[in-house]
Amino acid sequence: MARLVMKFGGTSVADMKSIRQAAKHVKREIDAGHEICVVVSAMAGTTNKLIEFCHDASNIHDAREYDAIVASGEQVSAGLMSIVLSEMGIKARSFAGWQVPIKTDDAHGAARIIEIDPDNLLNCMAENIVCVITGFQGVAPSLRVTTLGRGGSDTSAVAIAAAIKADRCDIYTDVDGVYTSDPRIVQKAQRLAKISFEEMLEMASLGAKVLQTRSVELAMAHKVRLCVRSTFDGHDYEQDNSNDQVFGTLVCDEDEIMEKQVVSGVTMVKGEAKITLRGVKDHPGVAAAVFGALADERIIVDMIVQNVSDDGRSTDITFTVPNSEYDKAMQALESTSNRFEYDDISGSKGSAKISVIGVGMRSHAGVASSMFNALADKKINIQLITTSEIKTSVLIEEEYGELAVRALHTHYGLDKNN
Ligand code: ADP
Ligand code: ASP
Ligand code: MG
Repeated sequence: MARLVMKFGGTSVADMKSIRQAAKHVKREIDAGHEICVVVSAMAGTTNKLIEFCHDASNIHDAREYDAIVASGEQVSAGLMSIVLSEMGIKARSFAGWQVPIKTDDAHGAARIIEIDPDNLLNCMAENIVCVITGFQGVAPSLRVTTLGRGGSDTSAVAIAAAIKADRCDIYTDVDGVYTSDPRIVQKAQRLAKISFEEMLEMASLGAKVLQTRSVELAMAHKVRLCVRSTFDGHDYEQDNSNDQVFGTLVCDEDEIMEKQVVSGVTMVKGEAKITLRGVKDHPGVAAAVFGALADERIIVDMIVQNVSDDGRSTDITFTVPNSEYDKAMQALESTSNRFEYDDISGSKGSAKISVIGVGMRSHAGVASSMFNALADKKINIQLITTSEIKTSVLIEEEYGELAVRALHTHYGLDKNN
């Protein structure tokens, strides 16, 4: 007997037919003798609709009420899933975040889970009741409802798995695993049987939205075995159960992966804006002042490049922010120009960040240069470059994003054969 958390994303609970399909997976695991907690997202499209309601209601953004509104989608699916499970003869009950309770900080809209008290869930499981828990939400110290950021149900599922010491956390979605690239962009992308936490962390934070980045961080920190699999692909998981196999993609420790790829994945983030300050005074404290002005406005800066100063007096700094933060960032820098000096500020929206990721990069030279060659062959100009131990990212014009992803996927031999 194992203890499993099964998380169903928005498309997996999009309508009653899908919910029944998802419930069949739960029944299979129960029949195999496992103890189950279920975590559900809102029905596909619901969270977007609720956010639209908030925007329509007023220009005033009250983050606490926003959370109360957008968290409601998950409650509907948790209730429906419990009813469907009961109808199938499985004892089940729904839990809202505060009923568990999933305690978070008070950063409404992007709250972090502080603590989950597992007792209520463990008591239910001891009575063979399946707990169906709302993903994406928790409760702040003020007792107000919080949400964890878009895609946050993955994080709820992993946090619950850690709290109840589950043997595995299965993320059921509309793809049957983690692919070498987004299968919606690269038709020849291949499913990875296993991927290391570190690579998955980079993939998620660099655009592979199949898992929320924070969920991978948590899984890595608490050593939760994560498995991404499909609700819909008709795979015979029952067969797997009897063979004790795990179908889908297992996100696990690097040590469990025998064959380490040089490049495991290619990702893209669209909607990046780039800002350049020219003739910035070259002395200590200037970068701190520039980025301090942005941090004061809570603007998240991504890639940063500072040139070597030619004359020892001035330099140029270029960095990226999301398109949505571009105007705010320009204003912040222009209105605080007395804190530092520069000759000129310019920028533009409409860039994309393309990344290649793989733990094998640690031990292989030349991955970055071959990436630049592959892009040059397609006449794609590189605007910025950043690297870390296991990834290389470039900023390019957004309109060439898909072309670049496909070209790199082919270049690193990741295309599947047929
Ligand atoms: P859910 O609603 O189940 O949480 P998401 O839409 O958040 O599902 O995530 C699944 C989607 O992630 C897939 O439909 C796929 O298009 C996208 N995706 C992006 N990159 C990858 C990747 N490398 N592997 C698999 N899916 C990916
Ligand atoms: N419903 C939330 C969203 O759409 C959380 C999730 O699905 O993970 O972002
Ligand atoms: Mg998701």
